[in-house]
Amino acid sequence: MKIKSARFILSAAKMSDCPEDQIPEIAFCGRSNVGKSTLINALTNHRKLAKISKTPGKTRLINFFLINDVFRFIDLPGFGYAKVPQSVKASWRKLVEDYLANRKNLKAVVVLVDSRRGLLEEETQLMEYCLYYNIPIELTFTKIDKLKSNENRQLKINCAESFKGSETHCSFVSALKNVGLQELRLRLDKQIRS
Ligand code: GDP
Repeated sequence: MKIKSARFILSAAKMSDCPEDQIPEIAFCGRSNVGKSTLINALTNHRKLAKISKTPGKTRLINFFLINDVFRFIDLPGFGYAKVPQSVKASWRKLVEDYLANRKNLKAVVVLVDSRRGLLEEETQLMEYCLYYNIPIELTFTKIDKLKSNENRQLKINCAESFKGSETHCSFVSALKNVGLQELRLRLDKQIRS
């Protein structure tokens, strides 16, 4: 997949704000600071694209980006913001769950996990939710440049064991060092065409 163009389309606060068409979508989800914006920018070769998702007011919305005029990357609101009140967290959660449960355009969810932290409860819950709705999961470990080579090897062994026989695919990327990005683009391309 070669990404030739990428642009911000709109932000949605509820399902009825989402575009009504047949354009396939790949959603990205992960806790804050996992490296989601950096990864979206790196995948699209666009330095400032995901900055839009960080502008005040937009962090709690679903942000839509049109890629190559043929598919969309969706930036879902991040979870794990420690300082956010419980009531606000509940409203984000509802928005994300509504999107996952009802969005016909959705082809796969890229669940981002910080390589150094591994899977925590919220990521596991998100994955269970996707499995329940039969949404393909692209489990993506970020910032692998921060791991020592033996840690990197161990992470891959653990993933191979944990997801043996499952349809969940694991990717290991470093947006900063351009590791694993082309492989991930190819995976997403396959999901878009499925
Ligand atoms: P977001 O909150 O999930 O959108 O996270 P950001 O993309 O803003 O990244 C959070 C921090 O992690 C920033 O300081 C990034 O520079 C850093 N970061 C992102 N990707 C990588 C990576 O691949 N390697 C390293 N070492 N740092 C990264």
